[in-house]
Amino acid sequence: MSDVLNYNDSCLFCKIIKGEIPSSKVYEDSFCYAFKDINPQAPVHILVVPKTHIVSCAEIDRKNSALVGHLFEAIAVIAREQGLDNGYRVISNCGPDAGQTVPHLHFHILGGKDMGEKLV
Ligand code: 5GP
Ligand code: ZN
Repeated sequence: MSDVLNYNDSCLFCKIIKGEIPSSKVYEDSFCYAFKDINPQAPVHILVVPKTHIVSCAEIDRKNSALVGHLFEAIAVIAREQGLDNGYRVISNCGPDAGQTVPHLHFHILGGKDMGEKLV
């Protein structure tokens, strides 16, 4: 987890983590930050991001995978706190073909309704 707090000054989500851009925080610890998506696609739509600038899933490697594991521990905690007892979906868009719009690794937590037809 040695890369923690390595920010990119031009990155939107790094600015949100640093508090330079306001956000609705739902969870924070030493390694990750979670906030409400500005354009929610479900009653609960939260973004979970590492507190270091990793571009996408494509940059996950041996050096930072423990941090990614920590993010998934946080996702389980956040989902419980949000009362998503009936299930939820976790999505990470990686690169242009997946429609990734913010190049800072993030996991969408979507829930609070039956999301119907599955993507996979
Ligand atoms: P992506 O399309 O990269 O998978 O997800 C980016 C997400 O970030 C989108 O769902 C979008 O609504 C959200 N987003 C973009 N800009 C902001 C912002 O300034 N604040 C918040 N809270 N969410 C944002
Ligand atoms: Zn960033």
